[in-house]
Amino acid sequence: MKQLKRPKAVTGKVYLIGAGPGDPGLFTLKGKEVLSTADVVFYDRLANPLLLGFVREGAKLVDVGKAPGRQKATQEMTNAMLVKAAKQGKRVARLKGGDPFIFGRGGEEALACLEAGIPFEVVPGVTSAIAAPAYAGIPVTHRNTATTLCIVTAHEMPGKETTQVDWRSLAAICKAGGTLVFLMGVERLDQVTAMLVREGLSAKTPAAVVRRGTWPDQRSLSGTLGDLHEKVKAAGIRPPAVTVVGPVAEFREVLGWFETRPLSGKRVVVTRAREQASELSGKLRDLGAEVVELPAIAVKFREANVLKGVKVSEYDHLLFTSANGVKAVVENLRRHGRDLRDLAGPKIGAIGPGTAKACEDVGLRVDKIPDTFVAEALLALYPAKAAKGKKFLVLRASEARDVLVTGLRERGAEVKEIAVYDTVAGAPDKAVLTELREKGADAVTFTASSTARHYHKMVKDLRLGKVMTGARHLSIGPITSETLRELGLSVDREAEESTMDGLVRAVVAELGVETTGKR
Ligand code: SAH
Repeated sequence: MKQLKRPKAVTGKVYLIGAGPGDPGLFTLKGKEVLSTADVVFYDRLANPLLLGFVREGAKLVDVGKAPGRQKATQEMTNAMLVKAAKQGKRVARLKGGDPFIFGRGGEEALACLEAGIPFEVVPGVTSAIAAPAYAGIPVTHRNTATTLCIVTAHEMPGKETTQVDWRSLAAICKAGGTLVFLMGVERLDQVTAMLVREGLSAKTPAAVVRRGTWPDQRSLSGTLGDLHEKVKAAGIRPPAVTVVGPVAEFREVLGWFETRPLSGKRVVVTRAREQASELSGKLRDLGAEVVELPAIAVKFREANVLKGVKVSEYDHLLFTSANGVKAVVENLRRHGRDLRDLAGPKIGAIGPGTAKACEDVGLRVDKIPDTFVAEALLALYPAKAAKGKKFLVLRASEARDVLVTGLRERGAEVKEIAVYDTVAGAPDKAVLTELREKGADAVTFTASSTARHYHKMVKDLRLGKVMTGARHLSIGPITSETLRELGLSVDREAEESTMDGLVRAVVAELGVETTGKR
């Protein structure tokens, strides 16, 4: 009999993954794939914590980051941990800020794997050396202006006997049309600029600093080798930051785009339920806002068979007053072994475009939708002669206003209302609350009376009153505004159109800055 080969001992693999500079959108697809299948993930503070959301449930998370002054794990310890986990057969992800091989000590970790006989892969990332300038409007090379790019560490003390940085050569490269990008050591900017001038660069050479590049609170400023250090000091810019030296630094004034978006630097609270927040959050983020998702409510679909014994086909009109109502009904039908055919018969009315979209998403065509998106307007679509003697079925939240139902009954309609979901108090994320307490917020958005009420209670219960004073209140429409006022909360601006886009426009009108492109 042929001898079977003994299988080699199973070992895991180490993936050195670049997390990108901060904006989660700059994380690579491959990085995401590896991260979401890893058994253990080693990360540090430069990587955006949001990326840890891709890690699968049950995987182990290890923070090996080095907070300044507080050494959490030495490089040797990190290397040893990576090797050990892989030897146990684990799929190991090492998530590093920017690109792992640009001042990321990724090479050392790869060598440690090699020495221990552990297979490894490198997943490059978008480096801050290029992305931070890009988000500040600085192309690190530019036709006829900059033909070389040097990425340099400023961690090595200039003038130090042992320095490996050749300042004279750097000055010469810059003079010949090169761009220098310094990582680390913005604290030593005075020495860096002085050294470059000493080695022959003009004090008028353009230079710029970008702090927290690609993060919502990115800050950049530009000047010259002669005055940059003073400007940075005056502005209180601390690490992490990159410094760009060379003619391309001047482009910041012209091409800067990230910090000049209408809501850049503004922190806007979204109080919608977690599952519903993304549309509004996304629109605000697109305009540059840093969104704080603080769900004041949570939506609970009713589990009992809400349409039990109800012959929908006998009704003339079926009305939905929220997207949640639509989703709750469809989910309820599915749960009880039924489907959309059970909604056949009546004409469908929706309170606004969001509700109409929820209908269309599940394949229900909407027959009537008002011009403004409040219950009164929906009611107005059914004047007495259309409503009298007709049968209406209203599917809605348990706590809803009576305007629609009362109004229809006054017009002689027969109305049945069924609560298909409940709104309960939301549970905001702990990390979000901590950050909110530290940084406060510029505005709070309200999309419904129920969120306004629950927000009011949440602020009281969590003692956020002080933190939130000064934040402007933006309301989606007259009913929500009325509730806010009843609660004793100010209404700084109300959306002209009661939609998410209308609310976003109100936020911009309230907080937006004039964008001239120059700073
Ligand atoms: N591997 C990383 C660099 C690690 S060294 C990369 O490729 O980006 C750490 C230095 O990177 C910091 O001191 C700072 O100079 C720079 N840095 C990292 N993230 C940054 C960011 N978002 N904005 C500006 N500089 C950043």
